[in-house]
Amino acid sequence: MTSDESYVRRAIDLAESAVESGNTPFGSLLVVDDEIVRTAENTTLTDDDIAAHPEFKLASWAATELEPADRVACTMYTSTEPCPMCASAIVYAGLDRVVYSVSVDSLADVRPDGVIEIPCAEVIDRADGATTVEGPMLEDEGLAVHENYF
Ligand SMILES: [Zn+2]
Repeated sequence: MTSDESYVRRAIDLAESAVESGNTPFGSLLVVDDEIVRTAENTTLTDDDIAAHPEFKLASWAATELEPADRVACTMYTSTEPCPMCASAIVYAGLDRVVYSVSVDSLADVRPDGVIEIPCAEVIDRADGATTVEGPMLEDEGLAVHENYF
């Protein structure tokens, strides 16, 4: 397994943990210089906060807590392709890369509603962002968490 795959698998584990805590199945982490600097789970239900997506929380944290040199060396691994809100936050934070497991198109196939089907890379391109996007990766594993939930 590549290190990208092992970090994606960790994001999927965080998505499972979010479900155990009473939330929807989404998890993410930030890696700088091959070290996990922060993890986050979805808490939209328990916080009653539509913005409590893990990617949004991590981008906000990175913009506040990481030096610019670390942000441009930072990869976000996430269990599902970031939504347009989170993609915008990733651009504002200036992160280097996003690697996701489940694509938004695959999510829309298993989740009944609430999916905005705009690819993360399209939002970042339109925003003139420098963040590169890679995925899907280990999509069957990531999708299994959604299939069990929705
Ligand atoms: Zn989001």
